[in-house]
Amino acid sequence: MLNNKIALITGGGRGIGRAIALAFARQGAIVAVSARTKEQVDAVAKEIGANAVALVCDVADPDSVNTMFSRAQQALGRGPDILVNNAGIAESATLVNTDDELWHRHLNTNLSGTFYCTRAALPSMIQERWGRIINVASIAGKTGAPYISAYAASKHGVLGLTRSVAHEVATLGITANAICPGYVDTEMVSRGIEKITSRTGRSEEEALETLKNMSPQHRLVTVEEVAAVALLLASDEGRGINGQAINVDGGSLMF
Ligand code: NDP
Repeated sequence: MLNNKIALITGGGRGIGRAIALAFARQGAIVAVSARTKEQVDAVAKEIGANAVALVCDVADPDSVNTMFSRAQQALGRGPDILVNNAGIAESATLVNTDDELWHRHLNTNLSGTFYCTRAALPSMIQERWGRIINVASIAGKTGAPYISAYAASKHGVLGLTRSVAHEVATLGITANAICPGYVDTEMVSRGIEKITSRTGRSEEEALETLKNMSPQHRLVTVEEVAAVALLLASDEGRGINGQAINVDGGSLMF
């Protein structure tokens, strides 16, 4: 399904990004896996085999992003056909305790990182008259919740960016869409559970139950479920889907 396509996946060293990298590779894509931790991107590229390259990049740093795109081009012969902006961070704090550092780190990583990578990826997609931009946002891109102002603001920004880009490139064979997961079973959620336990004294099981109960399905989403939506958006068959923000959350949000 993705034969001869080149996909660049940020935050591909673990969690959702790793699952998307593996799913795309299984469908025949050549995959560039990127994140800051070299050991993790190397491990995922090794798991995929010959059709993968590992690239260390901090998406919050525009120079690092531009270097990554040059290296991807050198290694793979052309720019990516598919860009998955998945790299992200999530830390919680009350609004009053959200210091400048926490605020800017979320905006720089989740929102500016998506912008830097999209800006670098589009020229070759425009030239090829084919491209897919897939932004892993969150249901926090559509609604707010206590203690996540910085995260929610950054993810709302990602949806605005996605929708504008989608309009801009609509006649050029390119689509831009966002995926909005609910709580997914990854390290990000494990770290959240640790924080809830240390802050409230509740057990890990109780904290996990609270997160599961956010979904009408009373469970966490799996990384494979998010990857399945990314696959559809990346495919030729997905070309009619543009400017959308697709929830993968068991129905916790119905808009
Ligand atoms: P993980 O923490 O498991 O993985 C995050 C990935 O992003 C890692 O590979 C990490 O690698 C990378 N990353 C973080 N910061 C940067 C950076 N500055 N530059 C490059 N890479 C970076 O999280 P998930 O897999 O759960 O999350 C992936 C995406 O899904 C995020 O955008 C997140 O907001 C979103 N999401 C997750 C949900 C969940 O419940 N898990 C729910 C909704 C959305 P490294 O640290 O080595 O750079």
